[in-house]
Amino acid sequence: MPDDKSYGSSLFYTPVSALKGISTKRAAALRKLGIETWYDLLTWFPRGYEDWTPVSDPADLKNGLEQTFVASVSRKIQSSQRGRLSVQKTSLRMGNSAISAVWFNQPWLTNKLQPGNEYIFHGKIRRDGRFFSVQNPAFDPYDEAITMPSLKPLYPLTEGISQTMMRLWISTVIQSLKDRMPEPLPFWVRRDNKLCAADYAISKIHQPDDSEEADISRRRLAFEELFLVQAGLRLLKQQRLFSRVSRCVQLESAHQSQLETMIASLPFSLTGAQRRAIQEVLADMCLNRPMNRLIQGDVGSGKTVVAAAAMYVCALAGGQAVMMAPTSVLANQHYASLRSLLGNCGQDIILLTGQTKTAERRQVLSGIADGRYKLIVGTHALLEDRVVFDKLLLTVTDEQHRFGVRQRARLNKADEDQQYVPHNLVMSATPIPRTLGLILYGDLDISIIDELPAGRQPIETYTATSADQERVYALIRKMISQGRQAYVICPMIEDGEATELSSATGVYNNLAQNVFPEYKVGLMHGSLKPAAKDQVMQEFYDRKLDILVSTTVIEVGVDQPNAAVMVIENAERFGLAQLHQLRGRIGRGSHRSICVLISDSSDEIARERLKTLCHSQDGFEIAEKDLQLRGPGDFFGTRQHGLPVFKLANLYQDRDIIAEVSRSLDLLFERDPDLQESEHKNVMKVLGDRYGEAFSELAL
Ligand code: ADP
Ligand code: MG
Repeated sequence: MPDDKSYGSSLFYTPVSALKGISTKRAAALRKLGIETWYDLLTWFPRGYEDWTPVSDPADLKNGLEQTFVASVSRKIQSSQRGRLSVQKTSLRMGNSAISAVWFNQPWLTNKLQPGNEYIFHGKIRRDGRFFSVQNPAFDPYDEAITMPSLKPLYPLTEGISQTMMRLWISTVIQSLKDRMPEPLPFWVRRDNKLCAADYAISKIHQPDDSEEADISRRRLAFEELFLVQAGLRLLKQQRLFSRVSRCVQLESAHQSQLETMIASLPFSLTGAQRRAIQEVLADMCLNRPMNRLIQGDVGSGKTVVAAAAMYVCALAGGQAVMMAPTSVLANQHYASLRSLLGNCGQDIILLTGQTKTAERRQVLSGIADGRYKLIVGTHALLEDRVVFDKLLLTVTDEQHRFGVRQRARLNKADEDQQYVPHNLVMSATPIPRTLGLILYGDLDISIIDELPAGRQPIETYTATSADQERVYALIRKMISQGRQAYVICPMIEDGEATELSSATGVYNNLAQNVFPEYKVGLMHGSLKPAAKDQVMQEFYDRKLDILVSTTVIEVGVDQPNAAVMVIENAERFGLAQLHQLRGRIGRGSHRSICVLISDSSDEIARERLKTLCHSQDGFEIAEKDLQLRGPGDFFGTRQHGLPVFKLANLYQDRDIIAEVSRSLDLLFERDPDLQESEHKNVMKVLGDRYGEAFSELAL
């Protein structure tokens, strides 16, 4: 057999149609599940197991339970027709008890079940006094001398593919590939982490004798998956560090003191976490390797000033820095923040978005090209136009989950003609537990701002129903009379098919005309023209609006410290993490802030989720609770992050494994950074075979 220790070998890529019983039609059904080769079948992991441990005594058969029992067939199967239904019947004998068995539309059973023979049956029991019956039981031949595995895998299926077929095909493939599974994990990694071998794991995850074997195998395979993906990310990071050059930011002592002066001129003093983050960023930028750092901090933790400090230092050193935002609303917002943070520092700050008028744009672009402008804020327009920088030292991107890894990579190439890549700083408020960050941001260094500015008032959060409407309006009125502003957030834009949902436009009309005719109410939603959006936001910043009715466009980064009340309609429609982000738009000043979550949902879980927000202000805690209640799903958006999709590993439940993987990879890369030693070569090989495509995209 040629080179069959790798996935490159033809055997693993044998098309499924080479298996007995796989017709063109079934092959097409399998393709819908993404199964085309033997390898795909091997890694089609069970979603659970069915327990086929037989009960030993008929007395243990319980009405309504799905159970397994061994019985002999008493007489030949009788097949009869009832209208369009064919019915197969027989009687089974277990000890002294008779169990009547019935199947529907399975005429072939008459030859399959032989009177006098023993079989093991599995099905839902009906018991009425001393009468037992079972409908449509599954069965296998039974031989006392052969021990049968008591757990049967349950596979995710699609129409036209039965559990029995899937079990048979997968077990055939396991037989054919026995002892040929490649082993990417070095022996010492398996020893340190007590992991079973690849061959054992693959066969036992499909065919465990007991639940312990299934667990051992699952743990090993999840470990392998996380190990390979994380190793790939580390290699990427290494490659970026060593194959590309950034200009070091030359920090003279004069610059240090100018930075201190800037910090001292802020209307607040920095938190310890902010100082630490700034130090980490400066240290990175003073090297000639590109910084790739993530600043992660809950909403309101003050990430912007960290970015501002980094940008300022670049300007002092004679270079340029850009801050990118996903929307023009946010770009405007950042522009305003930077001006207020750095306004007295003698540096021009300029804004470039899709709305920048042609004449102005020409002037801005030429100023960027000749180095006159050093601090630049913008949207994707900065990427799309071929903006030529004079000496770009730093890019800052906000809310990286909106950009995705690929765009992040592209930004780094903005300077490709000029041979240097800029340093890269990413800010994110997505609350991801640290271990998960190692995966999702495996190619970045992370600074965590885990401290909120002092004196922050907690945001009082309450749940309410539409019956409380008048009280909610009274609250808004009271806040506005004290000089505050209010947000009203709605999940949808237009009255569409889901008429029970408040639409932003409908709510706006009602509030502006009927409820608050004395106040100025603004409307903000995704389908407004960019210029109109900017205008509404500007009016809200300038306090020309008392109330802003908005969809979730407002979610990220918008900062008006005077806004102190937020009402969220149909709150059950939002994810908790999203509600937390939304709520973070208030409580940014020193005012007492109140958030009201309106929901008429009677769903128990929905109500409990909302209650979580009333009790916690901690983004991490909220995210965890959300996961617990909702299940992981694609919460962490691995797809969005451009990462390979995990077949087995669960980023939430497998946090322990992620931590173990990280420890092993620390050792591995310390010992053998290029994975050149013979016992590590298979890591590279399998990584390439399995994830090569995904990583080559990431490496762009
Ligand atoms: P986020 O981390 O959500 O981006 P921002 O950087 O927008 O937070 O900061 C939120 C608000 O807190 C802003 O109004 C900012 O001026 C203010 N702020 C930032 N750092 C501090 C601090 N150390 N003390 C007091 N207020 C601060
Ligand atoms: Mg922000």
